[in-house]
Amino acid sequence: MKTIVIGGGIVGLCTAWALRKQGVDVTVIEAGRVPCATAASSDHHRLTRPFYGAAHGYAARMPAAFDAFETLFEDLPAPRGRYYVETGMVVTSRERGDYADLSRQSLDRIGEPYTLLETEAEIAQRLPMLEPEGITYAMLARGGALMADTILRDLAFLLRSTGVPVVELSPVTRLDTAEGIVHLASGDSLRADRVILCAGTGLSALLPGLNIPLTPRRTLIVYADPPADLADAWAQAPGWIDLGGPTDYWGLPPVAGLPLKLGNGLMGRDDPDDSDRQITRDEMIALRESYRGLFRDIDGFRLRWGQANYWMKAPEHRFILRREGRVLAASADSGHGFKFGALSGIDIAEAVVSDDVDGVAARMAGGDDGGDLVGR
Ligand SMILES: Cc1cc2nc3c(=O)[nH]c(=O)nc-3n(C[C@H](O)[C@H](O)[C@H](O)COP(=O)(O)OP(=O)(O)OC[C@H]3O[C@@H](n4cnc5c(N)ncnc54)[C@H](O)[C@@H]3O)c2cc1C
Repeated sequence: MKTIVIGGGIVGLCTAWALRKQGVDVTVIEAGRVPCATAASSDHHRLTRPFYGAAHGYAARMPAAFDAFETLFEDLPAPRGRYYVETGMVVTSRERGDYADLSRQSLDRIGEPYTLLETEAEIAQRLPMLEPEGITYAMLARGGALMADTILRDLAFLLRSTGVPVVELSPVTRLDTAEGIVHLASGDSLRADRVILCAGTGLSALLPGLNIPLTPRRTLIVYADPPADLADAWAQAPGWIDLGGPTDYWGLPPVAGLPLKLGNGLMGRDDPDDSDRQITRDEMIALRESYRGLFRDIDGFRLRWGQANYWMKAPEHRFILRREGRVLAASADSGHGFKFGALSGIDIAEAVVSDDVDGVAARMAGGDDGGDLVGR
């Protein structure tokens, strides 16, 4: 079988990796470079963690998602530590039934280990960078930083060295879904038995008839140095995903020589144009300010740089896999897809080889228990 993967983000590259491992003939076509600066996958790092709030179906898939990356790391050329920095991850609970409470239920169900810090003294000792007020407990589990751009770069290298062409600077302009023909901006066209569309926010333009509402969502990130007197505490800090109450905070402590990274999903917005990629100084300050009362000495954080990037939002933030003729369209994103990248690649390759698209699609959507989640 001859296949073409459109898109050299984490999902497209991992799909090509998994197809190649099954002996399938595969070519990757990417509009930009790998990594492409405008891809959702592109940054120094992305978070991984087993916490998933109400989305128990996704939490249940996290052990497999961690394992899939370990399998990928064994194939990549550098030692594992270049691709993954384990920091541990924390969530804090402030009220019953909040994100931390729901995540705890998931971890209990799947037998994923965690540690609870339930007294102010325990929290102050392990997490001295947090303002402890209002926290009923903190929960620590595995997780950390997937070094995104390094993974993408080395994965493209791996693919090429195993005979998979990764064709850069080749935007696809049109698809013939019935015939499996891919038309390129250069005027050339390619034909395949299966075309796997992993084009991120570029998906809708190539499959305008797809009857699923997908919306690019603008998301802000700020890199900052922590206050000097808390630098040692931050060097030992876990990443965080949700700090309790009606919030959508996430981020990583300083790792691999980088400053720490602050995110806040509530500061994102839907934006069908997918083009407002300049973060303003005011946005960076507002993002830092949104952490006041959560992290100690917010005024001591020195802003370094920021980013405005886009991910593709699907209904209920579930992953989508859909067949249209010879095209298999994948949106395994909704703002939480990097940590699933290797597993999504394995899943999509299985759908290609077995032809069981519906079965794999149901699994990727988190099953009946996928739950809705804020995009994190
Ligand atoms: C700011 C931000 C923070 C995030 N944080 C996390 C996190 O901490 N943890 C996590 O798990 N997830 C996170 N995510 C989500 C995660 O990054 C995405 O879910 C994931 O990277 C999606 O990968 P993808 O391969 O589907 O899409 P993309 O990475 O967008 O890749 C799509 C590729 O297709 C190419 N393409 C598009 N159109 C065409 C065309 N016409 N022809 C050829 N090529 C084309 C693009 O250039 C691009 O390289 C975050 C996303 C953002 C934006």
